[in-house]
Amino acid sequence: MKRAAFILILPFFVVITVSGSLPPTSKGIKPVKNIILMIGDGMGTSEIYAGYTCNHGHLNLERIRNIGFSKTYSTSYVTDSGAGGTAISTGNKTYNGAIGVDSTGKPVKTILEWAEEKGKATGLIATCAITHATPASFISHQANRSDYELIADDFLKTDIDVFIGGGRDHFQKRKDSVDLTLKLRDKGYTVAYTIEDIKNVQKGPVAGLLAPVHQPKWLEGRGNQLTESVNEAIRLLVSDKDGFFLMVEGSQIDWGGHANDINYLATEMVDFDNAIGAVLDFALKNGETLVIVTADHETGGLGLNGGNLVTGEIKAGFTSTDHTGVMVPVFSYGPHSEIFTGFQENTDLYFKMMDAFGFKNNR
Ligand code: MG
Ligand code: ZN
Repeated sequence: MKRAAFILILPFFVVITVSGSLPPTSKGIKPVKNIILMIGDGMGTSEIYAGYTCNHGHLNLERIRNIGFSKTYSTSYVTDSGAGGTAISTGNKTYNGAIGVDSTGKPVKTILEWAEEKGKATGLIATCAITHATPASFISHQANRSDYELIADDFLKTDIDVFIGGGRDHFQKRKDSVDLTLKLRDKGYTVAYTIEDIKNVQKGPVAGLLAPVHQPKWLEGRGNQLTESVNEAIRLLVSDKDGFFLMVEGSQIDWGGHANDINYLATEMVDFDNAIGAVLDFALKNGETLVIVTADHETGGLGLNGGNLVTGEIKAGFTSTDHTGVMVPVFSYGPHSEIFTGFQENTDLYFKMMDAFGFKNNR
């Protein structure tokens, strides 16, 4: 009898051991009200440390204690930002160039669309055209990331409360001569062309189209625009009693990597980190906000071969002018942040955000 009992118990222990090694989930725990997802495009650990060096040994990111890793591959070993964004926004590994569609081209619902459906306010911020791959993959469903005007059309199909970035031409100077800003105004949006205009808006929705296509580099005078955009978006979104979902992209870290330009890359990283500081200050005071900071992929195969934390100088080496396949970090702060630690697929970020919001999903 004893031996029989042992045999019965053994599989039970095996199950416990296996499930014990999986990341914890938040099922059955009180849902979090707000999520702010911050994506540093092309931001691997080298890019972060380049920013740390450039900023003389300081980053707001260091305030976050929960850290994990994300495996960024798409249906290819090396992802692009369309597939990388779509993995995080929908939980689907798809082909490079896809925007909010799965590997067969079928539209798949995004975390932003789920949040809208559940009555939350939603927002997107980028330092590039708001129609570019990363923000687009949260709100649009297109087979090809370069169909910017079709992506702009998709903004009109949603009830997004705040979006701030470039891409004005994709709304106004179009092949079909349609002025989408008029349609946005018909829907009740304030269409703003400067951050000062946005500061004067008392109540959303707001379309902030701050540049014809992309905003300038930080090195070429973008100033504090990203952090100001984040503060204004939070001010407008936080009034929704149901909570909000906001995605903030540091878009041009990636472009510094593509250009193999360490000054471009590092200053974009520091600028993104300033926005992270503003978000953490809000989340600390608010107490009902989960903050996730991650990347879609690394860009440039950056190595830091030398540097100086006093002068901020960096001796950089790049292995590529394109994206690479390495894992990227996931920093998480606030309620349910512990479920984002450990090794994970980029697609897990979607499912974990759904869990944290308490939304039933299609896992
Ligand atoms: Mg991007
Ligand atoms: Zn890129």
